[in-house]
Amino acid sequence: ASALYIVPTPIGNLGDMTQRAIEVLTAADLIAAEDTRHSRRLLDAYSISGHLWSLHEHNERARSAAIIERVQAGQIVALISDAGTPLISDPGYPLLRACRDAGVNVIPLPGACAAITALSAAGLPTDRFSFEGFLPAKSGALNSRLDGLAKEPRTMVFYESPRRVLVTLTAMIEHFGAEREATLAKELTKRFESVVQSTLAGLIDWLEAEPERQQGEFVLVIGGYQVPEGEGLPAEAERWLTLLIAELP
Ligand code: SAM
Repeated sequence: ASALYIVPTPIGNLGDMTQRAIEVLTAADLIAAEDTRHSRRLLDAYSISGHLWSLHEHNERARSAAIIERVQAGQIVALISDAGTPLISDPGYPLLRACRDAGVNVIPLPGACAAITALSAAGLPTDRFSFEGFLPAKSGALNSRLDGLAKEPRTMVFYESPRRVLVTLTAMIEHFGAEREATLAKELTKRFESVVQSTLAGLIDWLEAEPERQQGEFVLVIGGYQVPEGEGLPAEAERWLTLLIAELP
């Protein structure tokens, strides 16, 4: 049926393309992609010919109207990005905003996402988590962001580049402490995949032990802030407070 389909693609391993993603991309009249040359190679791997349009930061607003017209005219349009799930630290938000305003039918497919893949293997609480994407590069903005997260109780998930991973971990130590639990998920689904469950200080040691470990793609999963024992309210006071709050008008 005519709609904008959101189609995840693999984050490394070509085997992670879903059957349904292949079907939708094969049927699509138009595929909006972040980098058409990169996506052409991917589509070739599944023998999908596909009519590609580029959709990136700089032309996204302008192209959204034309894409919406296509869907409203009854076409199947698919949105993909270079890797993983579109819109997750990837282009697509202005288009989805425009679809929302225009009442366009949007159908999302589930599939590969580095953040969720890393979180599932991190060995840290998953009942509540906060996706933090990429941290700001400038040190002022970086420090104020990390400062704001220092008491965040939920598990945090960050994307990071090889150039910045050590700088980021060092800054995190300043704000969260060297012993904060942390997991580094590197090159997920690829040949040199590793998932290192340690602390912030332990991850720096691991990366520095062999410089080639600093190459590749990284997700950092950081344990949330835990109130140090003895600093919270005593359990009995907590219980009374909860009961009293429930009685408040
Ligand atoms: N949309 C993608 C997704 O769903 O995961 C993320 C795109 S974002 C531009 C790229 C970042 O995702 C990388 O810098 C890295 O932090 C993370 N990433 C992507 N693929 C990865 C992989 N195979 N292993 C570890 N991290 C990965």
